[in-house]
Amino acid sequence: MQEGQDGKRDSKRVLVIPCSGIGKVHGLMSREAAYLVADELVPDKADLVCLALLVKEDEATIGKVKAHPCIAIDGCGKGCAMKNVELAGGEVIRAFQVGRFLSGHRGARPGSGSELTEEGWAVTREIAEAVADEVDGLCAREEVA
Ligand code: SF4
Repeated sequence: MQEGQDGKRDSKRVLVIPCSGIGKVHGLMSREAAYLVADELVPDKADLVCLALLVKEDEATIGKVKAHPCIAIDGCGKGCAMKNVELAGGEVIRAFQVGRFLSGHRGARPGSGSELTEEGWAVTREIAEAVADEVDGLCAREEVA
């Protein structure tokens, strides 16, 4: 386990940063996947970071991403979450893209920018489980290191 900027031990080891894509289903899926990870799948190991705070160079948020391994979930290949974590000096251990998961489900209708269909939720859960596996792996590797 790692110490945060204030010297206190951080109980949540890995930061998950979804992109902030608005108006398209990809952005909604990245955010919902991140919530599933932090609220349901690995709540003791992962925490979320608001991308907007990083973009506006919030000091506390920058300190946080520098102190923890980060996983980005981006809607598309522009990789806004991944790039902004890197710009802030953070280490992106793994970058996931919603579009890649969707391309494995040709013909799927995941929903809209404001609402997911059942199919959309299924793919979102698949993304969240992949992210949670990565979080588990990171934490396990740290324990044996
Ligand atoms: S990664 Fe793609 S979907 Fe997400 S904020 Fe950037 S441009 Fe929008």
